[in-house]
Amino acid sequence: MSSMDFDLFVIGAGSGGVRAARMAAGFGARVAVAEDRYMGGTCVNVGCVPKKLYVYAAEYGKGFSDARGFGWEGEQPSFHWSTLRDNKKTEISRLNAIYRKLLSGVDATLIDGRARIVDAHTVAVGDRQYTSERILIATGGWPYIPDFPGSEYAVTSNEVFDLEEFPRRLVVVGGGYIAVEFAGIFNGLGSQVTQLYRGPLFLRGFDADIRAHAAREIAKSGVKLRFETNVTAIRPGAGGLQVELTDGSTLEADTVLYATGRKPHLAGLGLENVNVELNPDGTIAVDEHFSTSEAGIFALGDVTGGMELTPVALAEGMAFARRQFGQQDASPEYEFIPTAVFCQPNISTVGFTEEEARERYGDIVLYKSAFKPMKHTLSGRDERSFMKMIVVRETDQVVGVHMVGPDAGEIMQGIAIALKAGATKAVFDNTIGIHPTAAEEFVTMREPVPED
Ligand SMILES: Cc1cc2nc3c(=O)[nH]c(=O)nc-3n(C[C@H](O)[C@H](O)[C@H](O)COP(=O)(O)OP(=O)(O)OC[C@H]3O[C@@H](n4cnc5c(N)ncnc54)[C@H](O)[C@@H]3O)c2cc1C
Repeated sequence: MSSMDFDLFVIGAGSGGVRAARMAAGFGARVAVAEDRYMGGTCVNVGCVPKKLYVYAAEYGKGFSDARGFGWEGEQPSFHWSTLRDNKKTEISRLNAIYRKLLSGVDATLIDGRARIVDAHTVAVGDRQYTSERILIATGGWPYIPDFPGSEYAVTSNEVFDLEEFPRRLVVVGGGYIAVEFAGIFNGLGSQVTQLYRGPLFLRGFDADIRAHAAREIAKSGVKLRFETNVTAIRPGAGGLQVELTDGSTLEADTVLYATGRKPHLAGLGLENVNVELNPDGTIAVDEHFSTSEAGIFALGDVTGGMELTPVALAEGMAFARRQFGQQDASPEYEFIPTAVFCQPNISTVGFTEEEARERYGDIVLYKSAFKPMKHTLSGRDERSFMKMIVVRETDQVVGVHMVGPDAGEIMQGIAIALKAGATKAVFDNTIGIHPTAAEEFVTMREPVPED
């Protein structure tokens, strides 16, 4: 047995770190995990979990008025921010305890505090030092607010879940999925929301038709979208925060949420003591087995960039532990990773955008469908769904599926399995639908979009 204190020292008890630690311990490794903030990391505390709970809350807003068309009458209930916020806190505390138990259950040593790398085999937490055969950096990311006059008045996704007062007027700055989701959440809860994005259209990286359809539907749902607009300054005023914009206008807001990007969480980590190289964007450079340029030090999850999603960090944590401690030649697969944006209506996608597919495969066939969801025939809600399928002409393989509509995230998980299995359009066509659902549209899209 090694003379070192541990076989693996994991820095960060988030999605990737906890999964790697649990699996490594399961293979018999002596594991330590240092966490300085919250068990479960970003996803559990200030990411996926609280966000989805707030999305559920937001969807009730329209749900009550939808119900009238189905015969439900009576006064619309009013929303109480403190109830949602405090119930969320209780649930997150429950999850924090479960994560702690998951690690103690496999006999991992949990060290509360901020870890600093001293050398390639030594980590300090507080005034104690620990030696380890391997160190795994799984410290995730951290929201970033650019520097401008009054930037100190803006909040990030880390704070917005726990605001003391509900913001009646909210300005969301950013065009990525996190910005879009928060705009939808607060709009649904009853805020007047303005979303600013400096580019011509938000959700860069998503299929162009999806971006355009989502922008129309989100605007109809009540979010004021202002593209090609940015903030120049925020000043406190008598009626709230004065948000000065690049077009010379001013917005008044109770809260300004910046969701303009995340940076790798490397502050105080002690990387200057070792030879860990960074990518040009500041993330940690790793090879396909998560080795950094310093022997014995590994990194995975958001801190290494790539698709910053919890299931990706989990897959990386498992592959790392299998390879290092289970003698298995494991690597995660990064093709056809499905993803969802939990705005109203949802967006979900798997595979290539039309633009990417044209570049990669050349000759492609497109199928598109836009329709009013059945529920809204009686609810009266003015909302349309959109679906798009991208097929390689030569092989008939489906290489991209995109959707805007209720439950898109739930629907896309199954489609992703089909795409991973290499399903052709003929396989989709030969699959019997589930009627009446929106998802059956994916197996009944017969007519391709005519070529220009
Ligand atoms: C608002 C929001 C919504 C999101 N929604 C989704 C979603 O719907 N679906 C999805 O798949 N993903 C979502 N994500 C992304 C997801 O949360 C991340 O991809 C995932 O948490 C990454 O896991 P990780 O292990 O790399 O890092 P993290 O989960 O960020 O964990 C890193 C941990 O390291 C700790 N740490 C950092 N430095 C140190 C140190 N020096 N010493 C000790 N501890 C340290 C941190 O406190 C943290 O607990 C969302 C993110 C945000 C911000």
